[in-house]
Amino acid sequence: MSDSCVFCRIVDGDLPSRTVYEDDDVLAFLDANPLAPGHTLVVPKAHHRRLRELSEEESAALFAAVHELMEPIEAAVDADGSNVGINDGPAAGQEVPHLHVHVVPRFRDDGGRPIHAVAGEVPDLADDELDEIAAAIGET
Ligand code: 5GP
Ligand code: ZN
Repeated sequence: MSDSCVFCRIVDGDLPSRTVYEDDDVLAFLDANPLAPGHTLVVPKAHHRRLRELSEEESAALFAAVHELMEPIEAAVDADGSNVGINDGPAAGQEVPHLHVHVVPRFRDDGGRPIHAVAGEVPDLADDELDEIAAAIGET
């Protein structure tokens, strides 16, 4: 728990939120500046910045809650689909340093873009570079 963390304060009930789900490890509430109706943030109750910092159990609880919430979120706003994503680290756009999963409901012809739109300039990688990257990920 961090006194200065806005999501810890929401978890502790010091700040109000429109909570939609709670269990021992996870809280979910509506985003205060929604990108779409039903935009929901799913957060571990424990303060962690990055996904890699969660224990296996905390991670399992977080994604189980996301899984459970997908249908009720989409049904509540009559959505046709959703984007699910984490801004994992400042370079990826993370502003609140308490890990959270965004569930952004999507609607046919809503003018939005797929998750492919989040990255910068698309790299042109040769086959050997792709092989090296795959091997490096596999080794770590
Ligand atoms: P990030 O860029 O860190 O992935 O996104 C942070 C999200 O948290 C933003 O979408 C922002 O609207 C939301 N947010 C920031 N402060 C609050 C708050 O106090 N309450 C709620 N419900 N959402 C917040
Ligand atoms: Zn926190």
